[in-house]
Amino acid sequence: TFMELVKNVCRRGTEAADSIAIRAEHESYSYKQLISSAWEISDLLCNSGLETVDGVRGRRHLGGARIGIVAKPSAEFVAGILATWFSGGVAVPLALSYPETELLHVMNDAEISMVLSTEDHQQLMQSVAAKCAAQFSLIPSVHRISLHESVHDHPQIEEIALDKGDDPALIIYTSGTTGKPKGAVHTHKSITAQALLYDALFKDQYVQTLAEAWEYTSTDQFLNCLPLHHIHQIAVEFMPKFSVRGIWQRWRESYPPNGSKADDAITVFTGVPTIYSRLIQGYEAMDPDQQAASATAARQLRLTMSGSSALPLPVMQEWEAITGHRLLERYGMTEFVMAISNPLRGVRKAGTVGKPFPGVQVKIAEDPNENDTTGVGELCVRSPSMFKEYWKLPQVTEDSFTDDGFFRTGDAGKIDEDGYYVILGRTSADIMKVGGYKLSALEIESALLEHPVVAECCVLGLPDKTYGEAVCAIIVPVEAAKRKQESSAISLEELCEWAKDKLAPYKVFEYISILFNVSSYLSFTVVAFSCYL
Ligand code: ATP
Ligand code: MG
Repeated sequence: TFMELVKNVCRRGTEAADSIAIRAEHESYSYKQLISSAWEISDLLCNSGLETVDGVRGRRHLGGARIGIVAKPSAEFVAGILATWFSGGVAVPLALSYPETELLHVMNDAEISMVLSTEDHQQLMQSVAAKCAAQFSLIPSVHRISLHESVHDHPQIEEIALDKGDDPALIIYTSGTTGKPKGAVHTHKSITAQALLYDALFKDQYVQTLAEAWEYTSTDQFLNCLPLHHIHQIAVEFMPKFSVRGIWQRWRESYPPNGSKADDAITVFTGVPTIYSRLIQGYEAMDPDQQAASATAARQLRLTMSGSSALPLPVMQEWEAITGHRLLERYGMTEFVMAISNPLRGVRKAGTVGKPFPGVQVKIAEDPNENDTTGVGELCVRSPSMFKEYWKLPQVTEDSFTDDGFFRTGDAGKIDEDGYYVILGRTSADIMKVGGYKLSALEIESALLEHPVVAECCVLGLPDKTYGEAVCAIIVPVEAAKRKQESSAISLEELCEWAKDKLAPYKVFEYISILFNVSSYLSFTVVAFSCYL
């Protein structure tokens, strides 16, 4: 289990314990510092008056109490999570971006007993904690921990057998795209299945971990600019706040123009598509010298990856043109972390999310109400990294699994001729039924994005008497997005004429209507056009 891995780090001798685990804001933290710090916080948790139960060798522990963790991406955040596990609690990372009402919803829903936060969020979190009868405690700074202390000296290290693999370790709330955020309960085992191979747990199955799939080694250095309340990666270098300039600068520092490579050079980067389009915009705004230095640096990264939503083809192409990297797109969700990925070596196919990792099974469920021959259906996943249940939602949990134990993702997909998976959007929102045919909003969106005038777009189905649903596209023209002024650079007729070839085998219907045209800073042209096969 995850705690076993921590024990191994402690036992493997000083070299492992002294190596750098995390960098953030120009500070480095060793595994030893992190773990010592986690023990200190763990003692604080166990002696804070929270209810404890008897554990192994007389050590009392929290018996699965939920501990909320609020901190920007930092060593303190990681120490807080480890401390929660050391003391037998379940960690619940809370989003810094949540307004107070959302925070309260999650805290009440998870029945949080104690909130751990860093000083910068103390004021807000203390008052929020009081409103839901939770205790509050500060996470001490990790670098204040004495370096003389050795983790091997910690007698508790042998006592952390509190966690059985199937015990809850982490509750991560989903993004709430399709309703209220649900708490996905991950166990020590489901986390370990993604992080590192632990043979004893999975002896009957071959499990390929992310470390193997993407060939992570101890020389890799991640730059993470994503908040940590999501399932993404456990990163090495935290960028506390997303900054386009900061990212480019960090890469330039990693690979200076004289051809050298800094000791702490970033090698791997991962982001959502929006981050890449912002990085591209940032690059375009640089002067030519800086562009050259930036592109040269970015070329030397080992791997750049994208996920969390569909990667528009133009973004992929522009990124490749600037950096020489073909973005590795993959598919995952809060409930099972990563399941399908384009390969590190081999063909990374645009518009697809690749193939399931070995050990992960994916099937496309037939829609029982349809006589469907399109091969489009709901993606269902079985994986060792699968979450255990939705927190306090037994019915939703039950409905989310098929009789044969596959998790129903709620995403529609199909398999292409090479066995690569194509995500077509949410079954509930992105799949439209037009004249009895299933259309994917994502496919139409990515086609529209290829139009030079379209900066952003969103496609949705509107009720239509004749066809059931009519395809409606909401478009932000490039000029409007850039110059923040009214723009009429795009005509509906022009767009539909153009879409005719792009949206093969669909034909654009002659019925078109403008729903509204708002112009203040941005000008949204709303276009509705129907398609039929
Ligand atoms: P909720 O479950 O509360 O409605 P959510 O599903 O948005 O929220 P997340 O777990 O953060 O919460 O997001 C997972 C979803 O992200 C997937 O179900 C899928 O729709 C989408 N997704 C992830 N990767 C990709 C990808 N490469 N291409 C397209 N969609 C993706
Ligand atoms: Mg979801």
